[in-house]
Amino acid sequence: MNPTNPAASPPKLLRIDLNTGRYQEEAIPGTTVRDYIGGRGFGVKYLYRDLKPGVEPFSPDNKLILHVGPLAGTGALCVSRWIATGKSPLTGTYFRSVGGDDFGAWLRWTGYEMVVLEGRAAVPSYILFREGKPEIRDARDIRSKTTSETQRLLREKHGDNVRTACIGPAGENLVRFAGIFAGTHCAGRGGMGAVMGAKNIKAIAIDAVRNVELPDPPGFKALLKEEAAAITKSRGFPVFAEHGTTHNQDNTTRNGIFPTKNFRYGTLDGWERFSGGEFDKMKVANVSCYACPMHCGNKYRVPDGPYAGATAEGPDYETIWAFTGAIDSNEIGATILGNHLCDELGLDTMSMGSAAGFACELYEREILTPKDTGGLDLKWGDHRMLMDLIRKTAYRDGIGDLLAEGTRLAAQRLGKGADYYAMHIKGLEIPAYDPRGVKGQGLSYATSSIGASHNIGYSVQELFGSKYPRPVDRRADSGHADVVMYNQDSSAAFETGVLCLFTAQLGMIRLPFFGKMMASVRSAPEFSDPEYLMKVGQRIYNLERAFNLREGIGRKEDSFPLRLTSEPLLKAGPSEGLVLGNPDLMIDEYYKVRGWDQNGVPTAEKLRELGLEETL
Ligand code: SF4
Repeated sequence: MNPTNPAASPPKLLRIDLNTGRYQEEAIPGTTVRDYIGGRGFGVKYLYRDLKPGVEPFSPDNKLILHVGPLAGTGALCVSRWIATGKSPLTGTYFRSVGGDDFGAWLRWTGYEMVVLEGRAAVPSYILFREGKPEIRDARDIRSKTTSETQRLLREKHGDNVRTACIGPAGENLVRFAGIFAGTHCAGRGGMGAVMGAKNIKAIAIDAVRNVELPDPPGFKALLKEEAAAITKSRGFPVFAEHGTTHNQDNTTRNGIFPTKNFRYGTLDGWERFSGGEFDKMKVANVSCYACPMHCGNKYRVPDGPYAGATAEGPDYETIWAFTGAIDSNEIGATILGNHLCDELGLDTMSMGSAAGFACELYEREILTPKDTGGLDLKWGDHRMLMDLIRKTAYRDGIGDLLAEGTRLAAQRLGKGADYYAMHIKGLEIPAYDPRGVKGQGLSYATSSIGASHNIGYSVQELFGSKYPRPVDRRADSGHADVVMYNQDSSAAFETGVLCLFTAQLGMIRLPFFGKMMASVRSAPEFSDPEYLMKVGQRIYNLERAFNLREGIGRKEDSFPLRLTSEPLLKAGPSEGLVLGNPDLMIDEYYKVRGWDQNGVPTAEKLRELGLEETL
């Protein structure tokens, strides 16, 4: 029940016990709707409440929650993305990973906003939804299949009306950065695919009737018109619809923040070979998520060179970086094949590229030897070696078994000073913006509840010159805290409806309008107030923090790899010589703005203000 509108029907979740195959429907309480609205808010609320502290991420006791926001499947634009929430095997933290394609709409059409998977199936299985009811089926015949084969086979079995989210061999092999894939889009980061693999679930296939009941259809229809105009008439629309993020390397190179050779340099020699213009030449089609006029994905075909004929949907900017800058290669074709292999085998491209760069550096410094690599020559710039590493990692073969642990655990296992070269924060490999040259983005990485994610608090002020809520100096060692908090909390607020964050970052959808849509779909007028939404965003962030603190993850983990605080950024143009000179000051400022104590623990006053007394 919605406390402000008792007539509104409550959202529902479905809890599936994989040990027994039994399932149970639950209404999500009105107080939870009021305080967390939906999407990411529901995910952390239930994970915090239901998961005992200290549970090992691969244990049957971990939860895997697949969920959407209330706007999914309604015809609203850019809101049918879906989230996988659980405790991450890569970071040990709370984790939320967001996926695209059209699976989110189909999940919503089951009638549930959340599906909570508990326990572990006795044999490899998949879940088939029909008429809103789940059935657990034997998946032994699709075991080890790639993600595209799995989806094709399930369509053949159950009809073309079926949409699937699945894992590839990497998820089955518990690679700690395996993703969950729908189409070629994935909830890639943080190893949610490995959590699904640990539950012995290969796929979730949905056959559903396209329907969402809305409290005010005419009012909502008017909002849809307004939304379409806001997106398609915005300044960023034509460029983003044409290129997606594939021109970002031009910007980050110009600013000297394109992490190169495992974060030694800020630019890569010969980067022009994979500039945005070069990607344009290979493009054969646009690719879109459900109900999105921006279709920011691109399909490419390599016309010539060593990878002639390779095709892939993608890469986006982060993947372009992962398979060039991270290993010091400028071979554009390798980004296409590398992306394709990761999609098929079920790997997160960012962590994979970073792990490959880490391995190259260890090899150069003889921390890894030919004996360790099984004779594989891990030379910088060798893109063919990268393809070998991708396959070996997905199957945990030889050196791949080490890299499948992620850079943090791999470094711990190796010793010999390897941890200096592991470029992660809280275990999550750092994305494609060198934080020495964008220090607010760096502070956001360090304080993120899921480790070094660019997405969870993207610094549009530094990266695209946004002046809202205020301009920032990307080179300054202090003065970022309030803007970082704004970026983090507003992202959390938008993800209550699982709005694609690109639309928010590009200024197409702003909080007041997003609030109107949420108020309409939930029959809750208070959601149209941006201040209310920001407070919900803050509540979500603090609850995620409380989860991590309960796991023993706090100030010590809000930190940067030593390389970034001690080695100046080189070959970096306008960012030349920058270093994270005073990380403690940045963190102190951030805690103060957040209302946290010096150890990064929210004060009792802050928790009461946010209604989070349960975490005291
Ligand atoms: S902008 Fe791109 S990622 Fe976002 S919903 Fe549209 S197609 Fe998907």
